[in-house]
Amino acid sequence: MNLLIMGLPGAGKGTQAAKIVEEFGIIHISTGDMFRSAIANQTKMGILAKSYMDKGELVPDEVTNGIVKERLAQADVSEKGFLLDGYPRTIEQANALDDILTDLNMVLDGVINIDVDPSLLLERLSGRIIHKETGETFHKVFNPPAAGYDENDYYQREDDKPETVKRRLDINIEQGAPIIEHYRQKDLVYDIAGNNEIDLVFKDIVEVVSSL
Ligand code: ADP
Ligand code: AMP
Repeated sequence: MNLLIMGLPGAGKGTQAAKIVEEFGIIHISTGDMFRSAIANQTKMGILAKSYMDKGELVPDEVTNGIVKERLAQADVSEKGFLLDGYPRTIEQANALDDILTDLNMVLDGVINIDVDPSLLLERLSGRIIHKETGETFHKVFNPPAAGYDENDYYQREDDKPETVKRRLDINIEQGAPIIEHYRQKDLVYDIAGNNEIDLVFKDIVEVVSSL
């Protein structure tokens, strides 16, 4: 099964993606995670990506399309299927993905669109914390790690600062609408009510994915 998960920053894509890939045994491909790992490894691509990410801007399409194409071509992906998270983010990326999938003889089975009231997103992003060791995402209030957790074991993303969040939301709102439309025309979009709590959102997603 080959899926996309879409939604504004903070909509819950990463949180739901972790649960979906566990439930359905498919491969999670997050372009944001790939860039953060390249930054941690101080690769040339990571240094370039960081200069955009720190400003809340998108990494250029040719770089992003390149890493996605390379990852989708790997054997585990064709064997198990994939869940793409955070890609495509521009209509050019959506067109590139169509071509990549055609080249690789793959088809998209569905697009999970997590719909969240934008007014909730700032609070979600400003409270997001990530476990340093496992990379697992939590929220200080909405999804705290176990009681009495040590704050030093978690970090906040650089781009979750309020100044950067505003820029990220503006860019993603503007660029996101034509992408959803692109997939609606192909009858692939499943809208999920993302204002609900995490487990309820997941239940709705499982229902949709199980029916594909
Ligand atoms: P995205 O990958 O779409 O940017 P995340 O999955 O990282 O979003 O979620 C953003 C923050 O909101 C995280 O701190 C996460 O724990 C929290 N979160 C995710 N889904 C929900 C939800 N349904 N209700 C409340 N908080 C949520
Ligand atoms: P995310 O982890 O999905 O919130 O992405 C974090 C940041 O990585 C974004 O704000 C962009 O700077 C960069 N990024 C992630 N995915 C893409 C993409 N598909 N196209 C361009 N930039 C991206």
